[in-house]
Amino acid sequence: MIRRIDSAALLVRSVPYGEADVIATFFTRESGKLSAIVRGARRSTKRFAGALEPIHGLTVTLEDKGKELCVLKEARIVRPRAGIAASLEAMEAAGQALRWVRHLCPARTPEPAAWRSLEELFDALDAADARETRRHLAIFGLRLLTDMGYALELDRCVRCGRACPEGRSAFVDAAGGGIVCTSCGGARRTIGGELRALASRAQRGEPVSLSWELAGTLIDVAEDAMAAHAGFDPGSPSTRA
Ligand SMILES: [Zn+2]
Repeated sequence: MIRRIDSAALLVRSVPYGEADVIATFFTRESGKLSAIVRGARRSTKRFAGALEPIHGLTVTLEDKGKELCVLKEARIVRPRAGIAASLEAMEAAGQALRWVRHLCPARTPEPAAWRSLEELFDALDAADARETRRHLAIFGLRLLTDMGYALELDRCVRCGRACPEGRSAFVDAAGGGIVCTSCGGARRTIGGELRALASRAQRGEPVSLSWELAGTLIDVAEDAMAAHAGFDPGSPSTRA
């Protein structure tokens, strides 16, 4: 049985396949992450006219025969995001967000909350000042964890449950799911009281302001947690490719 999927989508990754084809991985609103063969993609650039670029909002038509790979029949850009393409910082942030989605989201499973968060991130990056890109990425990282059911526990120790007083810095074991008190052995990384409160708010989807440095710390924390859940090594060059 052949199923036709029409969906809003973002290109997550594309890799050359054979002489002229490409295997494209999309994150679709309707069916989550899907990989598809794009026949002749490298022979004719006209056919999908730039629609195989990440960043831009697409609509895709895929033919799904229930095999590992769908077949891409059509792809159109419906929401160009020239602002991201024009900024190296925004491009890098978008690339990192797509890597996280690729690792964290299972195939063929709709993830409406993660879809919304990613769309919001890309719209924000499209309009953002370069200095704000890291803040947007940090907030997205924490929200993506929440969207996928991996929200970090930032208020109480994940081992003994003891509450951490407001404003106090804490040890955070992101791979272990949140903060760990001193009696339970602490953790390698610490997070200041103020940043802990900001991270909590960001996880709930509230707007927060973050300096470049603090945003960097939260990105590291979020990436540690994702790596633990999705089984990738955040420091490995292969996951950065
Ligand atoms: Zn404890």
